Amino acid sequence: MTPAIEVQQLSKRYGALTALDDIDLKIEQGEFFALLGSNGAGKTTLISILAGLIKPTSGTARVMGYDVQSQYQQTRQRLGVVPQELVYDPFFNVREMLVMQSGYFGIKHNDVWIDEILFRLDLANKAHVNLRALSGGMKRRVLIAQALVHKPPVIILDEPTAGVDVDLRQSLWQFVQQLNQDGHTVVLTTHYLEEAEALCRRVAMLKQGRVVVLDSIENLVRTIRDYTLLLRLS
Ligand code: ATP
Repeated sequence: MTPAIEVQQLSKRYGALTALDDIDLKIEQGEFFALLGSNGAGKTTLISILAGLIKPTSGTARVMGYDVQSQYQQTRQRLGVVPQELVYDPFFNVREMLVMQSGYFGIKHNDVWIDEILFRLDLANKAHVNLRALSGGMKRRVLIAQALVHKPPVIILDEPTAGVDVDLRQSLWQFVQQLNQDGHTVVLTTHYLEEAEALCRRVAMLKQGRVVVLDSIENLVRTIRDYTLLLRLS
């Protein structure tokens, strides 16, 4: 089967700084995959390349078999990205924003699907609320909603639960688990090992632009626990 995401020898340099350093990574369709790494590890850079927002210095990135550089229209139709921050027109309400987002993808009549997304994200009663009047938690839900308007098979979430309270974190976890069960490939970036452990089967750990671990989450957690125990004993 065609991988959902495949990057080969991917690098991104900003002058002397190497944000991504010769990365190879393959994520299969249907996986729930985590990209772990501390600040500046290169997670957002990788997502931005996959989303076609920035160009790699070298290497290739593919989404569902299509090359992000030369087949951008095909890749953008197949990828939904949930960024860290909501960029919005403050005069739009939630529904208007989703209609506008549908328009970006050339979808004219999306009302039934928009209603379904709003319902599933517990936003139905906020459909006509102005975006600037939403709480931070509601804005997070809108971020996810707008990534789903074109029904992409692959969804990438960039630190979806950073800075959210425990209740919202639990409900966002349930939502993305359901997306994965519905057949979407889900990739999330996170600083939290416990988040990856709760949700994902496989994980890549980035450090200074390199993939330093690519393994099952069980193996990673076991290795870290063994290492921590060893440190305590020594
Ligand atoms: P965080 O968890 O803080 O979001 P990250 O893993 O997403 O971090 P990136 O945002 O991908 O990390 O950044 C990787 C490196 O590239 C960092 O050193 C960052 O400062 C640098 N970088 C990112 N964008 C640019 C840019 N436009 N110009 C110069 N350097 C950049």
